[in-house]
Amino acid sequence: MHFDISDEQSLDNAGIRVTANRLLIWRTVRHHFDGAFSLADLEAALPTIDRSTLFRTLTLLSDAHLLHDIDDGSGSQKYCVCHVDDTRHCMGHVHITCQECHHTFCLTNVKIPPVALPEGFMPIETEYVVKGICSECAKRK
Ligand SMILES: [Zn+2]
Ligand SMILES: [Zn+2]
Ligand SMILES: [Zn+2]
Repeated sequence: MHFDISDEQSLDNAGIRVTANRLLIWRTVRHHFDGAFSLADLEAALPTIDRSTLFRTLTLLSDAHLLHDIDDGSGSQKYCVCHVDDTRHCMGHVHITCQECHHTFCLTNVKIPPVALPEGFMPIETEYVVKGICSECAKRK
């Protein structure tokens, strides 16, 4: 995955004070995971950091719009990296949850289609999850 700016710079741009733990967590979520991940996935990747620190940092990153929250129907909260590094003009991206391998893929090139809301309503974030079969699982069928 390619990013234009460094891990440290992107935290700084989002107004997050850089600490060793935050940088390590952000680096891991940004480069380690292929697609969406849960708190449990992050715990497995970073066993030396306690769960409450991981959770607090995920919330911080999510509040700063560096991460998207996704509810993929699995019952556990998932997160993925926002690919707009300056955090502005994010249209989000479509996700697909595979019903076979239960992986949630980020379709970063597939933008969420605009939804026309009635007068007076203001969107903050749009989540778009397709339930289906991923290309790998489809090949095996
Ligand atoms: Zn985004
Ligand atoms: Zn699959
Ligand atoms: Zn995603």
